[in-house]
Amino acid sequence: MTNPYAWIERSLHTIQQANWHRSVKAIAGRPGAVIELEGRQLINFASNDYLGLAGDERVIQAAIAATKKYGTGSTGSRLISGHRDLHQQLERAIATLKQTEDAIVFSSGYLANLGAIAALVGKRDLILSDQYNHSSLKNGAVLSGATVLNYPHCNIDKLQTLLSQHRKEYRRCLILTDSVFSMDGDLCPLLDILDLAEEFECMVLVDEAHGTGVMGKTGAGCVEQFGCTGRPLVQMGTLSKALGSLGGYVAGSASLIDFLRNRAASWIYTTGLSPADTAAALEAIRIVQTEPERRTQLWQNVTWLKQALSETFSHPARSPSGFWLLPSNSPILCLQVDSPNTVLQMGHHLQEAGLFVSAVRPPTVPTSRLRITVMATHESAHLNQLVSCLQTVL
Ligand SMILES: *Cc1c(COP(=O)(O)O)cnc(C)c1O
Repeated sequence: MTNPYAWIERSLHTIQQANWHRSVKAIAGRPGAVIELEGRQLINFASNDYLGLAGDERVIQAAIAATKKYGTGSTGSRLISGHRDLHQQLERAIATLKQTEDAIVFSSGYLANLGAIAALVGKRDLILSDQYNHSSLKNGAVLSGATVLNYPHCNIDKLQTLLSQHRKEYRRCLILTDSVFSMDGDLCPLLDILDLAEEFECMVLVDEAHGTGVMGKTGAGCVEQFGCTGRPLVQMGTLSKALGSLGGYVAGSASLIDFLRNRAASWIYTTGLSPADTAAALEAIRIVQTEPERRTQLWQNVTWLKQALSETFSHPARSPSGFWLLPSNSPILCLQVDSPNTVLQMGHHLQEAGLFVSAVRPPTVPTSRLRITVMATHESAHLNQLVSCLQTVL
């Protein structure tokens, strides 16, 4: 008899050999620009809490008040016993922020993508997907059963070629793209994508996970920044990044949202978002809309850090070989490093120097990199320390 689980040990061994093995680390206390890890204070460049709202006292109080009023769980799916007026308020608030007719809240961004994509297309349809899209878009595409063609990252010419070659063989077509690419920090060419979509009669789903609260004048995302508000689009996003809570959403036309309420399995057959998460996201959206100075501060920090890093890492001549700053137009700044081993060591050295920066390796990304995320609540001393430590470590 052979052990049917023995392959797991072997597989883990291979993962370890490739330096791809990961494990969790417990952060103590509240999230913020400075966090406590393994008993030490570290400056935090590894979260997606761009506006510092996950530890905001008002957001915390909103979650506490909702828990006291509605309890801890929503007790059922939204269509049965899991719907509260809070959910409705949150969906209204998202639709107002995005200037869409309606919105629907899922239990996570991942579930929003799985549910929306699988509801919008099926076996007779075509999906065109940017090669660097988030895992939830890729797995939503697989789940839908549609034919999936990946186009090279942000390559509009290639997207156009694929559309002219294959669009007519399929019933419906859906283009999938991150707005801010989560592991690179660059932006999708949204205007060009929308023009092609119009020409070839395609739907477009844009993932604003890292755009919401951060991009655009009012924090509505890249759709606002690129002047595409009101164009026919499926906008999805998460409540778990700049909004500091948990959950995901899709915003769009009233008929799209009504259709998803009837056809998105990951919304119908799962428990409604908890009252605490719902109320926290609602309060966070209120703050995003009433305190634009947070976004201003965030972008000031991004501009300063990008400038400082590009002085050291953008010129091949001056840059220590193998390290270079990837192009970015967001608070996600990545330093590409030659190997998984080097990036792990760098992450380790930075941590010893009091900085928490994530070392991202394959298979999450094609090449290893330090992923630095900037927060509105970083102080100039935090940013200075990062730059000088990076110079020393390298
Ligand atoms: C984080 C993320 C998601 C998933 O959102 P969750 O709410 O964390 O499940 C989806 N898309 C992108 C681009 C993301 O970065």
